[in-house]
Amino acid sequence: MSAQRIEGKQISDAIRAEIVQETAELKKKGIVPGLAVVLVGEDPASKVYVGSKAKACEQLGFYSEVHRLAENTSQSDLLALIEKLNKQDSIHGILVQLPLPKHIDEKAVIDAISVHKDVDGFHPVSVGNLVIGDVSLLPCTPAGVIEMIKRTGIEIAGKHAVVIGRSNIVGKPVAMLLLREHATVTVCHSKTPNMEEIARTADILVVAIGKAKAIGASYVKPGAVVIDVGINRLEDGKLAGDVDYDAVLETAGYITPVPGGVGPMTITMLMLNTLKAAKQTHAIGV
Ligand code: NAP
Repeated sequence: MSAQRIEGKQISDAIRAEIVQETAELKKKGIVPGLAVVLVGEDPASKVYVGSKAKACEQLGFYSEVHRLAENTSQSDLLALIEKLNKQDSIHGILVQLPLPKHIDEKAVIDAISVHKDVDGFHPVSVGNLVIGDVSLLPCTPAGVIEMIKRTGIEIAGKHAVVIGRSNIVGKPVAMLLLREHATVTVCHSKTPNMEEIARTADILVVAIGKAKAIGASYVKPGAVVIDVGINRLEDGKLAGDVDYDAVLETAGYITPVPGGVGPMTITMLMLNTLKAAKQTHAIGV
């Protein structure tokens, strides 16, 4: 039997409808969630992402500001802008689009964002809070992965989850969130010797390695939940995940497609973080 597709677009639309409702409630109290997006330079992909984020703000009724800075902007000018946004009451979330030009120290920039406005969830304090299980703004793609699994009605507690990939933006935080949800978690990476064997023991397999179609059916336990975070551009211009979708379809129990799986969740979780930040600022329960 074919795996059930987990439709990220549909789940994302449902969350957005909830955000619209909550935003309307907040507006009655005179609060408008506000997001500032900062783009430095002319990276074409980054420009598209920034445009999508601004559009999402508009659709959901948020206030937004897009700061487009020249490629040669100095680090001190960028830090000064962040400092200004940290103090600006109309802004509840600050997102600096990565990657930054080489002359700017990304860590210094992330560290400068107020932890209360860290809607990307990359600030070391947010990461620390995630690890110790304190309230924090969660990184968007990993939070989206958990939300998709939960909203599909899949129980995480007690399951064996295997995460392939250990990046700071996806693999590690996904692993921490799965642990928080009471899964038993194994993390694999490029130096893991018997990865195929380990992956085959997973009830929930999350793949984030950035290698098109690298994970085939031999990595998947029959009936497993397969979450494919990868987004890879093929030579023919089409998008593919890190999982060989067609090959895995008959083995997995659930699978996320690419495109239309994890991808649509990421911006939606950014919007949810901005809403949460606005509520936290005004001490409204989250
Ligand atoms: P990354 O920073 O390049 O990290 C890749 C990780 O995968 C590393 O930990 C690496 O191991 C591991 N890895 C690479 N090749 C491997 C292999 N053959 N076997 C086992 N492990 C391997 O990538 P990332 O930022 O996490 O992104 C991963 C993918 O997710 C990319 O396709 C990216 O485009 C996509 N992505 C999607 C979204 C979304 O919104 N859907 C968001 C973010 C990223 P080592 O640590 O040992 O080098």
